[in-house]
Amino acid sequence: MKQLGNNFGIIASVYNKTGMIESSNGNREHFLTKSNKIKPVVGDYVLYERLDKETLLITEILESTSQLMRLNTKGQPQTVASNLTQILLITAPQPTPNLLLIDQFILISELMNCSLSIISNKIDITDENHHSLRIYEELGYRLVKISAKHKTNLDHLFNLLNHQTTILLGQSGVGKSTITNLLIGNNPNKTDILSTKTNKGRHTTSAITMHRILENGYLIDTPGIENLRPNISDIKEIENGFREINALSERCKFRDCIHINEPDCVVKKALNKGKITIKRYDNYKKLIAEFEISQSF
Ligand code: GDP
Ligand code: ZN
Repeated sequence: MKQLGNNFGIIASVYNKTGMIESSNGNREHFLTKSNKIKPVVGDYVLYERLDKETLLITEILESTSQLMRLNTKGQPQTVASNLTQILLITAPQPTPNLLLIDQFILISELMNCSLSIISNKIDITDENHHSLRIYEELGYRLVKISAKHKTNLDHLFNLLNHQTTILLGQSGVGKSTITNLLIGNNPNKTDILSTKTNKGRHTTSAITMHRILENGYLIDTPGIENLRPNISDIKEIENGFREINALSERCKFRDCIHINEPDCVVKKALNKGKITIKRYDNYKKLIAEFEISQSF
């Protein structure tokens, strides 16, 4: 019997045109969409109707508060996940932190209005890693040092996760899958992926899945996802990723100053006085250049 009225749920996984919805009672069920125009991504809030005993039909996707974007293989922007509230940026002494990538992830988080904390993993190897990361602490980003392998300081990590929808980002090899396994442990949602794997084969290896973790948190697992991009339409938005630049920007002579060659630029003056780190400013310039190149096509 078809149930009347709309129900509310969150997209927990997407495989081609189907996937799983978590309804407000916490159960997960398969969905289909009412039309091809409805293209849900993980984290979307949706309204659904019951189609049959085993399937829900999505009728509407509600507006999202944030969208994580990437460039697909054709170079077009594509939404990876919606409604994230937190990015945990995983770093490690090995592989050495790529500070440009870190600054790009920070820009992504600031533009999405997500909070960002840096997790310095593998402190069992050395805890030297955080020296290059101290600048981020000074800028107000939390830095938490852990060893996923030896389960050191995991309570500090867990404390960050309740009441948040979190995604782990970072270079390959820093420990994201190891941490994910620690967090989802024996989570029953894991079986979503396993059962779909047997049904659908290869597609699932790169499936994005939302796991319920701890008492009241979600972890969006994006195995192997690459080419994440800040969603920028105006070059001036880039300084949002650079709090120390953004804080001074209003005092530049020109309102549209991008702090490269303009006269009476307060940011350049602060740089010359050593009040802004050269490395951060260099990365800012690289992101400006990258944006300009992308606009010239
Ligand atoms: P990912 O590519 O970010 O998902 O990284 P993985 O989770 O696959 O980890 C890469 C390698 O680092 C693996 O060999 C892990 O066993 C290792 N690793 C992960 N966490 C730690 C840690 O805290 N300490 C040490 N020494 N190795 C770790
Ligand atoms: Zn300026």
